[in-house]
Amino acid sequence: MQVILANPRGFCAGVVRAIEIVERALQRYGAPVYVRHEIVHNRHVVDTLRGKGAVFVEDLDEVPEGAMTVFSAHGVARTVEEEAKRRNLPVFDATCPLVTKVHLQGRRYAKAGRTLVMIGHEGHAEVIGTRGQVDVHVHLVSTEEDVAALDLPLDTPLAYITQTTLSVDDTRGVIAALGDRFSDLIGPDVSEICYATQNRQSAVRDLCKVADLILVVGSENSSNSSRLRDLGADEGLPSYLVADGSAIDPAWFDGIERVGLTAGASAPDELVDSVIDALRKLGPVDVSQLAGVDESIQFGLPRELRDVPTPTQAAVISA
Ligand code: SF4
Repeated sequence: MQVILANPRGFCAGVVRAIEIVERALQRYGAPVYVRHEIVHNRHVVDTLRGKGAVFVEDLDEVPEGAMTVFSAHGVARTVEEEAKRRNLPVFDATCPLVTKVHLQGRRYAKAGRTLVMIGHEGHAEVIGTRGQVDVHVHLVSTEEDVAALDLPLDTPLAYITQTTLSVDDTRGVIAALGDRFSDLIGPDVSEICYATQNRQSAVRDLCKVADLILVVGSENSSNSSRLRDLGADEGLPSYLVADGSAIDPAWFDGIERVGLTAGASAPDELVDSVIDALRKLGPVDVSQLAGVDESIQFGLPRELRDVPTPTQAAVISA
């Protein structure tokens, strides 16, 4: 069996930064560090950090007075920030800077008097956070049908913002539907929303040209991972989202010669390795990698954590 790896795949700069914030906070201040919501949507990452002393909560009520707190990469509503301030909780905000950029866009459009439409999925942590970062009502749409159902005068000055991990193609379709229906619409170009989402989706599209089946490593609740699986399915290939190698079903590979393998932005490399190991148990495997975009983006850490060595660096220093 040939296994062809997509490029790029796996961790993006926002996920690396969020995980480093929790690890460095644990290193500097000791356990426990409370994290509001899963730091990133990956069960393995969350369990690993939990093993190091992170405590994951959904509500700040669960954080004891004065305890070190981290907001997840998905961002939070202003009410959450205010609640943390009111309770004097020391907070590190691991919101991805690209999500913060969407918050700022939303505020700017609202200040200019535009009615806001967010393209995203109801109930997703990022959508809840972004809608809670602007002081006006934000209409939520996910599909072109939702656009048709928007109960607004057709000449309303509108602006759209988007969840960062959507299907780039579907988002283009929803924006086009908004533009067809409403006469005064502004918003960012889809290519400006998130480099990592765009690059991983383009890489899967390339993978679909050379593979018979697509495997995406990621958790079920990871929006960007699910979109990668959907993309494979849309291209007509059997496509599966797997948490790790243990989720592989040998029956999927009957008659399959070329497996395309990728990972969502929140899935670590070791889980990709565990999938390759599981495939090796089915027979000889030849692993190669497609050429792809080189990603060099890095996001800065909070000032207080910059000089804290990561666990790997600390181990080297103490050795
Ligand atoms: Fe940030 Fe994009 Fe990664 Fe989400 S997928 S954390 S927006 S870089």
